[in-house]
Amino acid sequence: MKSSELFDRAKALMPGGVSSPVRAIQPYPFYVAGAAGAYLKTVDGERLIDCCLGYGPLILGHAPEAVRVAIESQLADGWLYGTPCPGEVALGERIAADHPSIDMVRFVSSGSEATMAAIRLARAATGRQDIVKIEGGFHGAHDAVLVKAGSGATTMGVPDSAGVVADLVAHTRQVAYNDLEGLDALLSSSEDIAALIIEPVMGNVGPILPEPGYLQEVRALTLDYDVLLIFDEVITGYRLGIGGAQVRYGVTPDLTTLGKIIGGGLPIGAFGGRRDLMAMVAPQGPVYQAGTFSGNPLTMAAGNAALGWLHENPGIYSRLEKGTRRIGETCAGAGGSFVSLGSMFKYFFRPAAPKNYAEAKESDTAAFRVFWEKMLKRGIFVPPSQFETNFLSAAHTDEIIEHIADAYSTCLSE
Ligand code: PLP
Repeated sequence: MKSSELFDRAKALMPGGVSSPVRAIQPYPFYVAGAAGAYLKTVDGERLIDCCLGYGPLILGHAPEAVRVAIESQLADGWLYGTPCPGEVALGERIAADHPSIDMVRFVSSGSEATMAAIRLARAATGRQDIVKIEGGFHGAHDAVLVKAGSGATTMGVPDSAGVVADLVAHTRQVAYNDLEGLDALLSSSEDIAALIIEPVMGNVGPILPEPGYLQEVRALTLDYDVLLIFDEVITGYRLGIGGAQVRYGVTPDLTTLGKIIGGGLPIGAFGGRRDLMAMVAPQGPVYQAGTFSGNPLTMAAGNAALGWLHENPGIYSRLEKGTRRIGETCAGAGGSFVSLGSMFKYFFRPAAPKNYAEAKESDTAAFRVFWEKMLKRGIFVPPSQFETNFLSAAHTDEIIEHIADAYSTCLSE
């Protein structure tokens, strides 16, 4: 069955015809029948180079041997026990060893759950109610953080969701990214701020990079005002290198949220941090958190295999960083701005690289849409939004990267 027919059926069944908003490409999204390496195969018989990569988790590409074998071998032993399993101890040890901020960790099933629990923990630990988030920061689809949220919320033009209790959102304060004065003013204005939650590198309206010294100063300010610092590394974790942004920039938060890559492509989230804070999580402490699928053996097997592979192949990070720079070179002179860090990249239809959400939103989204269609015609799938980060994976060979660079140059100059 063709994509258009599948979407017609889906629209009668699912809101917008999809399971997550940003997928609702008009007039209809392509449906995928299979994926391997750097490629997606659609039900319409097309083969596309994938620069969306499941919105970030697939840093090894689609169906990589190492993860596939680990999943297959776990399948024979069952995939849900409802009890602890050895894989969660191994994955927890790996994550704690890789992250300076993490002494203890709790596995959940999505990044949204991770940030929801981390915020609850921060409120419990400080006895305060307010949180600060960055304008355009996306931390999942739960009430407290659906205020000026990036990702699908920005793409679909509904940055503030209906149905969210006003009293709850009143406890979510906002400040622009890269604005230290604004942060200082906000933190000094209230005694009731439990935590600042921040994507250290903005990935859901970006990438938008921290200005030199920004993250260090964020850490200093949060310490000065005795506010907990939560790094949301759901995208940047194992994407910017082993240890994510906190290792890359040398800044240690109090709590860290992870997801995406750590599950090897299966659903996952995790939050972790200082021992005294994490000791407050149930059943050790009074902050309740639980989940049927948390720490399930199949995801743990996939995650352990993916992180194991990254540890054995650390050179992948510099190769992919060279790759995104190469794509950037070919975009020079096209009038917009190219931003990359590690294997994250994006071309903004705006003359200068954005420093924050307000600037990113000035991008010409109509021009992006035309460009996106041209890229798809050339067999390259980039996320269907000006505000979603593009990715490369280990399966993107230098030849494939050259092909992508070529397509960027052609589609931007046409
Ligand atoms: N935090 C960040 C930084 C994200 O990018 C995302 C998802 O894109 C989330 C949290 C939510 O993760 P999930 O979609 O797994 O709930």
